[in-house]
Amino acid sequence: MKIVFASNNTNKIAEIQWLLPEYIQLLSLKDIGCNEEIPETATTIEGNAILKANYVTQNYGYTCFADDTGLEVEALNGAPGVFSARYAGEQKNTQDNMDKLLLALATQNNRKAQFKTIIALNLNGTQTLFSGIAKGNITTEKSGNNGFGYDPIFQPEGYSETFASLDIAVKNKISHRSIAVQKLISFLKDQK
Ligand code: IMP
Repeated sequence: MKIVFASNNTNKIAEIQWLLPEYIQLLSLKDIGCNEEIPETATTIEGNAILKANYVTQNYGYTCFADDTGLEVEALNGAPGVFSARYAGEQKNTQDNMDKLLLALATQNNRKAQFKTIIALNLNGTQTLFSGIAKGNITTEKSGNNGFGYDPIFQPEGYSETFASLDIAVKNKISHRSIAVQKLISFLKDQK
């Protein structure tokens, strides 16, 4: 079975391919000749995952899944959420995003937050969504060099370090993305 992952992120693709059974072959956007940037214009994380998966299925006719992730901060009513990548502007700068968030929470005691990943799968004319959530707190300063995005200021529940200070293998076991991917993989395995 060939299935498109609507992404060109080689790390994500390799990670998911490694977890999949051999009879499922993952294709990237590049592999199917899709070189255009898929517009992420929805106002929710779910909406963007659906938009990307549908774009591929409608334009290229493949079985496809797409993911979208956001950081939802309780004291900010769920912001930055779907705007996580461009929270501090279209330059999509990680340091600027973290600085803006730390400033927004400067006088806040409630520092609860969660990462949410949604995967939308289009298979045999049916769409199925899978979610993964990692709960935690936003720290008051950055710490750690691993990972990416908001990892230096996100401390997952049950741990005393940030995602960026944890071993990458540990983060990959407990992360929002891995929870959603595991659900997708169990589903695909059941389809055989
Ligand atoms: P994407 O949908 O996977 O591209 O994620 C959107 C944005 O959410 C990224 O640009 C990051 O700012 C943030 N993000 C997603 N996943 C993570 C993560 O595992 N750690 C930290 N930040 C993340």
